[in-house]
Amino acid sequence: MSKPVRVRFAPSPTGPLHIGGVRTALFNYLFAKKHDGTFYIRIEDTDQTRFVAEAEAYIFEALEWLGISPDETINKNEKFGPYRQSERKAIYKQYADQLIKSGWAYYAFDSSEKLDELRKLAEEEKKTFIYNHTVRENLDTSLVLSIEETEKRIANGEHYVIRFKTPVNETLEINDIIRGTVKFDTNLLDDKVLFKSDGMPTYHLANIVDDHLMETSHVIRGEEWLPSLPLHYLLYQAFNWEAPEFAHLPLILKPIGNGKLSKRDGDKMGFPVFPLEWKTAETTSMGYRENGFFPEAVVNFLALLGWNDGTEQEIFSLEELIQKFDLSRIHKAGAKFDPDKNKWFNHQYLQKQNNENLAELFKIELDRRAISTSLDLIKIVSLVKERANFVTELYDLSDYFFEAPTSYDEKASKNWNSATPELMQKVIVELNKIEDFTSINIETFLKEWMTQNGIGMGKVMQPLRLSLVGALKGPHLFDIIEMIGKEETIKRIEKAIGTL
Ligand code: GLU
Repeated sequence: MSKPVRVRFAPSPTGPLHIGGVRTALFNYLFAKKHDGTFYIRIEDTDQTRFVAEAEAYIFEALEWLGISPDETINKNEKFGPYRQSERKAIYKQYADQLIKSGWAYYAFDSSEKLDELRKLAEEEKKTFIYNHTVRENLDTSLVLSIEETEKRIANGEHYVIRFKTPVNETLEINDIIRGTVKFDTNLLDDKVLFKSDGMPTYHLANIVDDHLMETSHVIRGEEWLPSLPLHYLLYQAFNWEAPEFAHLPLILKPIGNGKLSKRDGDKMGFPVFPLEWKTAETTSMGYRENGFFPEAVVNFLALLGWNDGTEQEIFSLEELIQKFDLSRIHKAGAKFDPDKNKWFNHQYLQKQNNENLAELFKIELDRRAISTSLDLIKIVSLVKERANFVTELYDLSDYFFEAPTSYDEKASKNWNSATPELMQKVIVELNKIEDFTSINIETFLKEWMTQNGIGMGKVMQPLRLSLVGALKGPHLFDIIEMIGKEETIKRIEKAIGTL
Protein backbone atom coordinates (compact mmCIF):
# COMPACT_ATOMS: atom_id res chain seq x y z
CA MET A 1 0.00 0.00 0.00
CA SER A 2 1.21 3.47 -0.73
CA LYS A 3 1.95 5.97 2.02
CA PRO A 4 -0.97 7.86 3.58
CA VAL A 5 -1.51 11.23 1.94
CA ARG A 6 -0.04 14.06 4.00
CA VAL A 7 0.28 17.40 2.27
CA ARG A 8 1.22 20.80 3.52
CA PHE A 9 0.91 24.46 2.84
CA ALA A 10 4.15 26.08 3.99
CA PRO A 11 3.85 29.86 3.74
CA SER A 12 6.49 32.32 4.83
CA PRO A 13 4.87 35.05 6.93
CA THR A 14 6.32 37.99 5.03
CA GLY A 15 3.06 39.89 4.37
CA PRO A 16 -0.53 39.25 3.38
CA LEU A 17 -1.15 35.94 1.64
CA HIS A 18 -1.37 36.48 -2.13
CA ILE A 19 -4.31 34.91 -3.96
CA GLY A 20 -1.82 32.57 -5.68
CA GLY A 21 -0.79 31.25 -2.27
CA VAL A 22 -4.45 30.73 -1.43
CA ARG A 23 -4.81 28.61 -4.57
CA THR A 24 -1.81 26.50 -3.48
CA ALA A 25 -3.45 25.98 -0.09
CA LEU A 26 -6.76 25.10 -1.77
CA PHE A 27 -5.20 22.51 -4.08
CA ASN A 28 -3.42 20.90 -1.15
CA TYR A 29 -6.66 20.90 0.82
CA LEU A 30 -8.62 19.34 -2.06
CA PHE A 31 -5.99 16.69 -2.66
CA ALA A 32 -5.88 15.74 1.04
CA LYS A 33 -9.66 15.52 1.37
CA LYS A 34 -10.02 13.57 -1.85
CA HIS A 35 -7.59 10.93 -0.59
CA ASP A 36 -8.75 10.89 3.04
CA GLY A 37 -5.41 12.37 3.93
CA THR A 38 -4.15 15.16 6.13
CA PHE A 39 -3.69 18.79 5.21
CA TYR A 40 -1.29 20.58 7.52
CA ILE A 41 0.20 24.06 7.73
CA ARG A 42 3.79 24.76 8.59
CA ILE A 43 4.94 28.33 9.04
CA GLU A 44 8.32 28.86 7.37
CA ASP A 45 9.68 31.80 9.30
CA THR A 46 13.43 31.19 9.19
CA ASP A 47 14.13 34.39 7.30
CA GLN A 48 13.84 36.85 10.17
CA THR A 49 14.70 39.85 8.02
CA ARG A 50 11.43 39.47 6.11
CA PHE A 51 9.24 38.47 9.06
CA VAL A 52 5.93 40.34 9.47
CA ALA A 53 4.18 39.69 12.76
CA GLU A 54 0.54 39.95 11.64
CA ALA A 55 1.01 37.75 8.59
CA GLU A 56 0.61 34.42 10.36
CA ALA A 57 -2.79 35.23 11.88
CA TYR A 58 -3.86 36.62 8.52
CA ILE A 59 -3.09 33.31 6.79
CA PHE A 60 -5.19 31.30 9.24
CA GLU A 61 -8.04 33.80 9.16
CA ALA A 62 -8.11 33.77 5.35
CA LEU A 63 -8.23 29.99 5.11
CA GLU A 64 -10.89 29.82 7.78
CA TRP A 65 -13.03 32.34 5.91
CA LEU A 66 -12.74 30.17 2.81
CA GLY A 67 -13.61 27.02 4.74
CA ILE A 68 -10.30 25.28 4.03
CA SER A 69 -8.62 25.26 7.43
CA PRO A 70 -5.87 22.69 8.06
CA ASP A 71 -6.32 19.46 9.99
CA GLU A 72 -3.01 19.90 11.75
CA THR A 73 -1.08 23.02 12.62
CA ILE A 74 -0.04 25.29 15.50
CA ASN A 75 -2.37 24.51 18.46
CA LYS A 76 -4.32 21.94 16.46
CA ASN A 77 -3.56 18.19 16.48
CA GLU A 78 0.15 18.93 16.97
CA LYS A 79 1.28 15.44 16.05
CA PHE A 80 4.45 16.58 14.34
CA GLY A 81 4.95 19.94 16.04
CA PRO A 82 6.17 22.49 16.50
CA TYR A 83 4.71 23.79 13.23
CA ARG A 84 6.65 27.04 13.28
CA GLN A 85 10.18 26.63 11.93
CA SER A 86 11.57 29.29 14.26
CA GLU A 87 10.58 26.97 17.12
CA ARG A 88 12.32 24.03 15.46
CA LYS A 89 15.70 25.79 15.29
CA ALA A 90 17.40 23.17 17.48
CA ILE A 91 16.47 20.40 15.06
CA TYR A 92 18.31 21.56 11.95
CA LYS A 93 21.95 21.82 13.06
CA GLN A 94 22.43 18.05 13.38
CA TYR A 95 21.22 17.61 9.80
CA ALA A 96 23.62 20.22 8.50
CA ASP A 97 26.42 18.46 10.45
CA GLN A 98 25.38 15.14 8.97
CA LEU A 99 25.82 16.51 5.46
CA ILE A 100 29.27 17.86 6.33
CA LYS A 101 30.26 14.46 7.66
CA SER A 102 29.03 12.59 4.63
CA GLY A 103 30.78 15.04 2.30
CA TRP A 104 27.57 16.52 0.84
CA ALA A 105 28.24 19.93 2.30
CA TYR A 106 31.12 22.18 3.28
CA TYR A 107 31.92 25.25 5.34
CA ALA A 108 32.50 28.52 3.52
CA PHE A 109 34.12 31.44 5.34
CA ASP A 110 34.10 34.01 2.53
CA SER A 111 33.27 37.50 3.75
CA SER A 112 30.41 39.33 2.09
CA GLU A 113 32.96 41.97 0.92
CA LYS A 114 34.93 39.27 -0.86
CA LEU A 115 31.79 37.90 -2.53
CA ASP A 116 30.70 41.40 -3.58
CA GLU A 117 34.10 41.94 -5.11
CA LEU A 118 33.86 38.67 -7.07
CA ARG A 119 30.38 39.62 -8.28
CA LYS A 120 31.66 42.98 -9.44
CA LEU A 121 34.60 41.46 -11.26
CA ALA A 122 32.32 39.04 -13.07
CA GLU A 123 29.95 41.85 -13.97
CA GLU A 124 32.81 43.79 -15.55
CA GLU A 125 33.33 40.82 -17.84
CA LYS A 126 29.57 40.71 -18.48
CA LYS A 127 29.28 37.44 -16.58
CA THR A 128 27.36 36.37 -13.50
CA PHE A 129 29.29 35.12 -10.52
CA ILE A 130 28.03 31.69 -9.49
CA TYR A 131 29.22 29.97 -6.34
CA ASN A 132 29.63 26.47 -7.71
CA HIS A 133 32.04 23.64 -8.51
CA THR A 134 34.18 25.89 -10.72
CA VAL A 135 35.12 28.21 -7.86
CA ARG A 136 34.55 26.40 -4.58
CA GLU A 137 38.04 25.02 -4.42
CA ASN A 138 39.63 28.44 -5.00
CA LEU A 139 37.65 30.09 -2.24
CA ASP A 140 37.81 30.16 1.52
CA THR A 141 36.13 26.81 2.19
CA SER A 142 36.67 23.68 4.23
CA LEU A 143 37.27 21.87 0.94
CA VAL A 144 40.78 23.37 0.86
CA LEU A 145 41.48 23.80 4.58
CA SER A 146 42.67 21.13 6.94
CA ILE A 147 40.12 19.79 9.41
CA GLU A 148 42.08 21.36 12.29
CA GLU A 149 42.15 24.73 10.60
CA THR A 150 38.42 24.59 9.87
CA GLU A 151 37.59 23.64 13.44
CA LYS A 152 39.84 26.35 14.82
CA ARG A 153 38.16 29.05 12.75
CA ILE A 154 34.70 27.92 13.83
CA ALA A 155 35.80 27.76 17.48
CA ASN A 156 37.15 31.31 17.13
CA GLY A 157 33.65 32.46 16.24
CA GLU A 158 34.34 33.27 12.60
CA HIS A 159 31.25 33.75 10.48
CA TYR A 160 30.57 30.87 8.17
CA VAL A 161 27.84 29.32 6.08
CA ILE A 162 27.33 25.68 5.18
CA ARG A 163 26.91 25.17 1.46
CA PHE A 164 25.61 22.18 -0.44
CA LYS A 165 28.28 20.45 -2.51
CA THR A 166 26.40 20.01 -5.76
CA PRO A 167 27.62 16.96 -7.70
CA VAL A 168 29.32 17.61 -11.04
CA ASN A 169 28.39 16.30 -14.51
CA GLU A 170 25.07 14.75 -13.64
CA THR A 171 21.73 15.02 -15.40
CA LEU A 172 18.84 14.72 -12.98
CA GLU A 173 15.55 13.39 -14.28
CA ILE A 174 12.84 14.17 -11.78
CA ASN A 175 9.19 13.32 -12.09
CA ASP A 176 6.64 16.04 -11.59
CA ILE A 177 2.99 14.94 -11.52
CA ILE A 178 1.94 17.92 -13.63
CA ARG A 179 4.97 18.32 -15.91
CA GLY A 180 6.20 14.78 -16.35
CA THR A 181 9.98 14.26 -16.37
CA VAL A 182 11.91 17.45 -15.78
CA LYS A 183 15.66 17.40 -16.54
CA PHE A 184 18.35 19.42 -14.78
CA ASP A 185 22.08 19.68 -15.49
CA THR A 186 23.87 19.81 -12.12
CA ASN A 187 26.71 21.84 -13.61
CA LEU A 188 24.32 24.76 -13.94
CA LEU A 189 23.34 24.75 -10.28
CA ASP A 190 24.98 26.82 -7.59
CA ASP A 191 26.05 25.56 -4.17
CA LYS A 192 23.17 26.94 -2.13
CA VAL A 193 23.61 27.99 1.47
CA LEU A 194 21.91 25.52 3.83
CA PHE A 195 22.87 26.84 7.23
CA LYS A 196 24.35 29.99 8.77
CA SER A 197 26.57 30.51 11.77
CA ASP A 198 23.76 32.35 13.57
CA GLY A 199 22.26 28.88 13.98
CA MET A 200 19.48 29.36 11.46
CA PRO A 201 18.89 27.03 8.53
CA THR A 202 17.89 28.49 5.17
CA TYR A 203 14.59 27.69 3.50
CA HIS A 204 16.03 24.74 1.57
CA LEU A 205 17.40 22.76 4.50
CA ALA A 206 14.52 23.47 6.87
CA ASN A 207 11.95 22.68 4.18
CA ILE A 208 13.45 19.27 3.32
CA VAL A 209 14.11 18.25 6.92
CA ASP A 210 10.57 19.19 7.92
CA ASP A 211 8.87 17.62 4.93
CA HIS A 212 10.69 14.44 5.88
CA LEU A 213 10.05 14.57 9.63
CA MET A 214 6.41 15.53 9.11
CA GLU A 215 6.00 12.62 6.70
CA THR A 216 4.90 14.68 3.73
CA SER A 217 3.75 12.45 0.90
CA HIS A 218 3.29 15.07 -1.83
CA VAL A 219 4.74 18.54 -2.28
CA ILE A 220 2.20 20.66 -4.14
CA ARG A 221 3.45 24.21 -4.61
CA GLY A 222 3.76 27.05 -7.11
CA GLU A 223 5.87 26.90 -10.26
CA GLU A 224 8.23 29.50 -8.85
CA TRP A 225 9.72 26.70 -6.74
CA LEU A 226 10.59 24.51 -9.73
CA PRO A 227 14.18 25.86 -9.89
CA SER A 228 14.65 24.62 -6.30
CA LEU A 229 13.54 21.13 -7.22
CA PRO A 230 16.96 19.72 -8.23
CA LEU A 231 18.53 20.84 -4.95
CA HIS A 232 15.64 19.42 -2.95
CA TYR A 233 15.83 16.16 -4.84
CA LEU A 234 19.58 15.96 -4.22
CA LEU A 235 19.09 16.71 -0.54
CA TYR A 236 16.79 13.71 -0.26
CA GLN A 237 19.53 11.63 -1.89
CA ALA A 238 22.15 13.05 0.42
CA PHE A 239 20.11 12.14 3.49
CA ASN A 240 19.13 8.80 2.03
CA TRP A 241 15.48 9.63 2.49
CA GLU A 242 12.62 8.75 0.20
CA ALA A 243 11.54 11.92 -1.58
CA PRO A 244 7.87 12.93 -1.65
CA GLU A 245 6.12 13.26 -4.99
CA PHE A 246 6.19 16.71 -6.53
CA ALA A 247 3.57 18.79 -8.33
CA HIS A 248 4.38 22.34 -9.40
CA LEU A 249 1.26 24.40 -10.07
CA PRO A 250 1.11 26.75 -13.07
CA LEU A 251 1.63 30.47 -12.60
CA ILE A 252 -1.34 32.79 -12.27
CA LEU A 253 -0.97 35.34 -15.05
CA LYS A 254 -1.94 39.00 -15.37
CA PRO A 255 -5.38 39.71 -16.86
CA ILE A 256 -3.74 41.66 -19.69
CA GLY A 257 -0.27 41.18 -21.12
CA ASN A 258 2.33 38.66 -20.01
CA GLY A 259 3.80 37.76 -16.68
CA LYS A 260 2.77 36.87 -13.18
CA LEU A 261 -0.26 38.46 -11.55
CA SER A 262 0.96 41.15 -9.18
CA LYS A 263 -0.48 43.52 -6.65
CA ARG A 264 0.19 46.32 -9.15
CA ASP A 265 -2.26 44.75 -11.65
CA GLY A 266 -4.94 44.72 -8.97
CA ASP A 267 -4.28 48.34 -7.99
CA LYS A 268 -4.31 49.45 -11.62
CA MET A 269 -7.48 47.61 -12.60
CA GLY A 270 -9.29 47.88 -9.27
CA PHE A 271 -9.52 44.30 -8.06
CA PRO A 272 -8.07 42.62 -4.96
CA VAL A 273 -5.14 40.21 -5.06
CA PHE A 274 -5.54 39.28 -1.39
CA PRO A 275 -8.29 37.24 0.25
CA LEU A 276 -8.76 39.71 3.13
CA GLU A 277 -8.07 43.40 3.46
CA TRP A 278 -4.52 44.16 4.64
CA LYS A 279 -3.73 47.40 6.42
CA THR A 280 -0.38 48.92 7.20
CA ALA A 281 0.47 52.36 8.52
CA GLU A 282 0.91 53.55 4.92
CA THR A 283 -1.60 51.67 2.81
CA THR A 284 -4.72 49.55 2.75
CA SER A 285 -4.91 46.72 0.24
CA MET A 286 -8.29 45.45 -0.87
CA GLY A 287 -9.51 41.99 0.06
CA TYR A 288 -12.06 39.70 -1.57
CA ARG A 289 -14.00 39.40 1.68
CA GLU A 290 -14.32 43.16 2.18
CA ASN A 291 -15.16 43.63 -1.50
CA GLY A 292 -18.28 41.57 -1.01
CA PHE A 293 -17.25 38.23 -2.46
CA PHE A 294 -18.80 35.06 -1.11
CA PRO A 295 -16.08 32.66 0.08
CA GLU A 296 -17.64 29.90 -2.05
CA ALA A 297 -17.21 32.06 -5.15
CA VAL A 298 -13.55 32.68 -4.38
CA VAL A 299 -12.90 28.98 -3.82
CA ASN A 300 -14.68 28.23 -7.07
CA PHE A 301 -12.77 30.67 -9.25
CA LEU A 302 -9.44 29.74 -7.67
CA ALA A 303 -10.06 26.04 -8.32
CA LEU A 304 -10.45 26.79 -12.01
CA LEU A 305 -7.12 28.61 -12.23
CA GLY A 306 -5.17 25.80 -13.83
CA TRP A 307 -7.62 22.96 -13.29
CA ASN A 308 -10.90 21.75 -14.78
CA ASP A 309 -12.80 18.48 -14.59
CA GLY A 310 -12.72 17.88 -18.34
CA THR A 311 -16.26 19.13 -18.93
CA GLU A 312 -17.72 22.59 -19.47
CA GLN A 313 -18.92 22.77 -15.87
CA GLU A 314 -17.84 25.94 -14.08
CA ILE A 315 -19.82 26.05 -10.86
CA PHE A 316 -18.52 23.65 -8.23
CA SER A 317 -19.25 23.46 -4.53
CA LEU A 318 -16.34 22.60 -2.25
CA GLU A 319 -17.76 19.09 -1.85
CA GLU A 320 -17.88 18.62 -5.60
CA LEU A 321 -14.35 19.94 -5.97
CA ILE A 322 -13.13 17.41 -3.44
CA GLN A 323 -14.81 14.63 -5.35
CA LYS A 324 -13.56 15.68 -8.75
CA PHE A 325 -10.14 17.11 -8.00
CA ASP A 326 -7.30 15.36 -9.74
CA LEU A 327 -3.68 16.56 -9.88
CA SER A 328 -3.21 14.99 -13.29
CA ARG A 329 -5.85 17.35 -14.72
CA ILE A 330 -3.84 20.45 -13.83
CA HIS A 331 -2.31 22.15 -16.86
CA LYS A 332 1.29 23.20 -17.22
CA ALA A 333 0.47 26.48 -18.94
CA GLY A 334 -0.09 29.59 -16.88
CA ALA A 335 -3.68 30.46 -15.94
CA LYS A 336 -4.95 33.93 -16.81
CA PHE A 337 -6.61 35.79 -13.96
CA ASP A 338 -9.91 37.27 -15.10
CA PRO A 339 -11.42 39.76 -12.64
CA ASP A 340 -14.65 40.11 -14.66
CA LYS A 341 -15.15 36.38 -14.67
CA ASN A 342 -14.62 36.40 -10.90
CA LYS A 343 -17.52 38.84 -10.56
CA TRP A 344 -19.60 36.51 -12.69
CA PHE A 345 -18.86 33.72 -10.21
CA ASN A 346 -20.01 35.93 -7.37
CA HIS A 347 -23.15 36.75 -9.32
CA GLN A 348 -23.89 33.03 -9.62
CA TYR A 349 -23.43 32.47 -5.90
CA LEU A 350 -25.57 35.48 -5.08
CA GLN A 351 -28.42 34.02 -7.14
CA LYS A 352 -28.02 30.72 -5.28
CA GLN A 353 -28.53 32.38 -1.88
CA ASN A 354 -32.05 32.02 -0.58
CA ASN A 355 -33.94 35.29 -0.29
CA GLU A 356 -34.14 35.12 3.52
CA ASN A 357 -30.34 35.00 3.82
CA LEU A 358 -29.88 37.65 1.24
CA ALA A 359 -32.40 39.90 3.01
CA GLU A 360 -30.38 39.56 6.19
CA LEU A 361 -27.19 40.56 4.41
CA PHE A 362 -29.05 43.40 2.76
CA LYS A 363 -30.31 44.57 6.15
CA ILE A 364 -26.70 44.88 7.34
CA GLU A 365 -25.96 46.92 4.24
CA LEU A 366 -28.94 49.20 4.92
CA ASP A 367 -27.88 49.65 8.55
CA ARG A 368 -24.46 50.64 7.30
CA ARG A 369 -26.14 53.35 5.26
CA ALA A 370 -28.33 54.33 8.24
CA ILE A 371 -31.52 53.49 6.36
CA SER A 372 -34.34 52.09 8.45
CA THR A 373 -37.37 50.62 6.79
CA SER A 374 -40.46 48.54 7.43
CA LEU A 375 -40.57 47.28 3.85
CA ASP A 376 -40.44 43.57 3.08
CA LEU A 377 -36.74 43.08 2.31
CA ILE A 378 -37.20 39.48 1.28
CA LYS A 379 -39.58 40.62 -1.45
CA ILE A 380 -37.27 43.45 -2.49
CA VAL A 381 -34.21 41.21 -2.90
CA SER A 382 -36.29 38.72 -4.85
CA LEU A 383 -37.23 41.52 -7.24
CA VAL A 384 -33.78 42.97 -7.86
CA LYS A 385 -31.12 40.31 -7.15
CA GLU A 386 -31.04 39.09 -10.72
CA ARG A 387 -29.03 42.17 -11.68
CA ALA A 388 -26.65 42.14 -8.71
CA ASN A 389 -23.12 40.76 -8.52
CA PHE A 390 -22.66 41.84 -4.90
CA VAL A 391 -24.84 42.47 -1.86
CA THR A 392 -23.48 46.02 -1.85
CA GLU A 393 -25.12 46.59 -5.24
CA LEU A 394 -28.59 45.70 -3.99
CA TYR A 395 -29.19 49.16 -2.61
CA ASP A 396 -28.45 50.98 -5.86
CA LEU A 397 -30.76 48.56 -7.62
CA SER A 398 -33.58 49.18 -5.17
CA ASP A 399 -33.07 52.65 -3.69
CA TYR A 400 -36.43 53.88 -5.07
CA PHE A 401 -38.23 51.52 -2.70
CA PHE A 402 -36.79 53.39 0.24
CA GLU A 403 -36.89 56.97 -0.91
CA ALA A 404 -38.69 59.04 -3.51
CA PRO A 405 -36.53 60.08 -6.46
CA THR A 406 -34.72 63.34 -5.90
CA SER A 407 -34.01 63.79 -9.60
CA TYR A 408 -35.34 62.42 -12.85
CA ASP A 409 -33.27 60.86 -15.58
CA GLU A 410 -32.97 63.47 -18.30
CA LYS A 411 -33.32 61.13 -21.26
CA ALA A 412 -36.26 59.33 -19.70
CA SER A 413 -37.96 62.67 -19.05
CA LYS A 414 -38.60 62.95 -22.80
CA ASN A 415 -41.50 60.57 -22.13
CA TRP A 416 -43.15 63.32 -20.13
CA ASN A 417 -45.03 65.78 -22.38
CA SER A 418 -47.57 68.58 -21.96
CA ALA A 419 -50.48 66.14 -21.80
CA THR A 420 -48.86 63.98 -19.14
CA PRO A 421 -49.76 65.97 -15.96
CA GLU A 422 -53.47 65.78 -16.69
CA LEU A 423 -53.22 62.07 -17.44
CA MET A 424 -51.31 61.47 -14.22
CA GLN A 425 -54.00 63.30 -12.24
CA LYS A 426 -56.48 60.82 -13.68
CA VAL A 427 -54.20 57.92 -12.67
CA ILE A 428 -54.30 59.24 -9.10
CA VAL A 429 -58.10 59.24 -9.19
CA GLU A 430 -58.11 55.66 -10.45
CA LEU A 431 -55.56 54.47 -7.89
CA ASN A 432 -57.70 55.90 -5.12
CA LYS A 433 -60.53 53.66 -6.24
CA ILE A 434 -58.52 50.43 -5.69
CA GLU A 435 -59.33 48.77 -2.37
CA ASP A 436 -57.18 45.67 -2.37
CA PHE A 437 -53.86 47.22 -3.27
CA THR A 438 -51.96 44.23 -4.66
CA SER A 439 -49.77 44.16 -7.75
CA ILE A 440 -52.13 42.01 -9.76
CA ASN A 441 -55.24 44.03 -8.80
CA ILE A 442 -53.60 47.33 -9.60
CA GLU A 443 -52.41 46.00 -12.93
CA THR A 444 -55.81 44.62 -13.94
CA PHE A 445 -57.64 47.74 -12.83
CA LEU A 446 -55.39 50.29 -14.53
CA LYS A 447 -55.10 48.29 -17.73
CA GLU A 448 -58.86 47.97 -18.00
CA TRP A 449 -59.22 51.68 -17.43
CA MET A 450 -56.68 52.42 -20.16
CA THR A 451 -58.36 50.10 -22.66
CA GLN A 452 -61.84 51.45 -21.96
CA ASN A 453 -60.68 55.03 -22.42
CA GLY A 454 -58.44 54.35 -25.41
CA ILE A 455 -55.31 55.50 -23.58
CA GLY A 456 -52.05 54.14 -24.99
CA MET A 457 -50.19 51.93 -22.52
CA GLY A 458 -46.84 53.72 -22.99
CA LYS A 459 -48.41 57.12 -22.33
CA VAL A 460 -49.18 56.06 -18.77
CA MET A 461 -46.65 53.39 -17.89
CA GLN A 462 -43.46 55.28 -18.70
CA PRO A 463 -44.35 58.56 -16.96
CA LEU A 464 -45.62 56.52 -14.03
CA ARG A 465 -42.35 54.63 -13.77
CA LEU A 466 -40.43 57.89 -14.09
CA SER A 467 -42.47 59.37 -11.22
CA LEU A 468 -41.87 56.42 -8.92
CA VAL A 469 -38.30 55.44 -9.80
CA GLY A 470 -36.80 58.57 -11.34
CA ALA A 471 -35.66 56.57 -14.37
CA LEU A 472 -36.93 53.90 -16.72
CA LYS A 473 -35.42 51.03 -14.74
CA GLY A 474 -36.42 48.51 -12.11
CA PRO A 475 -38.64 45.44 -11.89
CA HIS A 476 -42.31 45.04 -12.80
CA LEU A 477 -43.98 48.45 -12.25
CA PHE A 478 -47.02 47.10 -10.38
CA ASP A 479 -44.77 45.22 -7.95
CA ILE A 480 -43.12 48.53 -7.12
CA ILE A 481 -46.50 50.22 -6.62
CA GLU A 482 -47.71 47.48 -4.27
CA MET A 483 -44.47 47.56 -2.33
CA ILE A 484 -44.37 51.32 -1.66
CA GLY A 485 -48.15 51.52 -1.12
CA LYS A 486 -50.96 53.76 -2.30
CA GLU A 487 -50.13 56.84 -0.28
CA GLU A 488 -46.45 56.95 -1.27
CA THR A 489 -47.29 56.20 -4.92
CA ILE A 490 -49.68 59.12 -5.09
CA LYS A 491 -47.24 61.40 -3.28
CA ARG A 492 -44.54 60.60 -5.83
CA ILE A 493 -46.84 61.18 -8.79
CA GLU A 494 -47.80 64.55 -7.37
CA LYS A 495 -44.17 65.44 -6.84
CA ALA A 496 -43.38 64.53 -10.44
CA ILE A 497 -46.27 66.64 -11.70
CA GLY A 498 -44.93 69.57 -9.70
CA THR A 499 -41.34 69.09 -10.84
CA LEU A 500 -41.31 67.88 -14.44
N1 GLU B 1 8.06 28.81 2.36
C1 GLU B 1 7.87 28.59 0.97
C2 GLU B 1 6.87 29.65 0.48
O1 GLU B 1 6.88 30.70 0.98
C3 GLU B 1 7.39 27.19 0.72
C4 GLU B 1 7.64 26.66 -0.63
C5 GLU B 1 7.35 25.19 -0.66
O2 GLU B 1 6.16 24.84 -0.63
O3 GLU B 1 8.28 24.41 -0.66
O4 GLU B 1 6.07 29.47 -0.41
